[in-house]
Amino acid sequence: MPTFALFGSPIQHSLSPFIHRYFACLHGFNINYQAIETHTGQLAAALYRFRQKKGQGANITLPLKEEALHLCDHLSKAAKLSGAVNTLQWKNNQLWGDNTDGEGLVQDLTVNLKLNLQNKRILILGTGGATRGIIHPLLARSATLIIVSRDERKAQHLAHLNSQITAFSYSALAQQDFKVDIIINATSSSLQNLLPPIAERWVRKNIVIDLAYRFNQPTVFVQWAVNYQANAWDGIGMLVEQAALSFQKWFQIKPNTRSLIEKLRQGDTILA
Ligand code: NDP
Repeated sequence: MPTFALFGSPIQHSLSPFIHRYFACLHGFNINYQAIETHTGQLAAALYRFRQKKGQGANITLPLKEEALHLCDHLSKAAKLSGAVNTLQWKNNQLWGDNTDGEGLVQDLTVNLKLNLQNKRILILGTGGATRGIIHPLLARSATLIIVSRDERKAQHLAHLNSQITAFSYSALAQQDFKVDIIINATSSSLQNLLPPIAERWVRKNIVIDLAYRFNQPTVFVQWAVNYQANAWDGIGMLVEQAALSFQKWFQIKPNTRSLIEKLRQGDTILA
């Protein structure tokens, strides 16, 4: 049976095993996909053991996406640009690393939500790994990015990557009166049930995406934005799309994602 795994920590509640088994099932085969709890500094040894057991590829999640980058023999452009790897595959005993997170978000925005990103001004909250992963795919769709951080230097650091990015602290943003077309919450604040410190005028009647997700209920940020008549979605679409792109790399099949996104939004993990 094809053998794949997810490495990271904590991963006991990860949906990746469910998602990949579901995709395989859709295409009439079974897949052995395990979540393997792995801590910082232990990825090389864990991958070695997995490869001994005929592992063919893997997904990598927090906190190992940068560590994985340094273990690969070959890196895709997306992995190099984001400085992180979320998809691994052995080919002829060489380890190839890719990053499908940013492209997964773009798929969700452009295909599922039918948004045109060209020349759109996108406000991105936060400067962590998720932001680094989505910057280049969004710029490649000719979007203009405004990145906001609690620490303006972190946002400035990202703004130096490209002239189409500007940087603000939250307090500096509060002084601005420009309009944005889309707001992406790429902070981890929803995981702490907190809101990032932006005024409600930014989200009011706007298009809002929270990269975080909860099952069967909106995140605190989605709920807040909906209260101000925003069109708001959580990160389940991105989660499924980045997984579909990993699956496509491993099996050369792009699975249909729509039914799974609907199932997960209804809290349905029957196959898990
Ligand atoms: P990181 O820990 O790398 O970065 C999170 C960032 O959030 C920090 O850099 C910080 O930015 C900001 N932050 C943290 N707490 C708060 C707070 N209370 N208020 C405001 N800002 C805060 O996490 P990731 O970038 O990897 O993940 C970010 C989010 O994206 C998470 O919710 C994660 O679940 C989600 N995600 C979803 C994916 C999907 O497939 N749907 C894929 C990857 C991530 P700063 O210091 O600049 O303010």
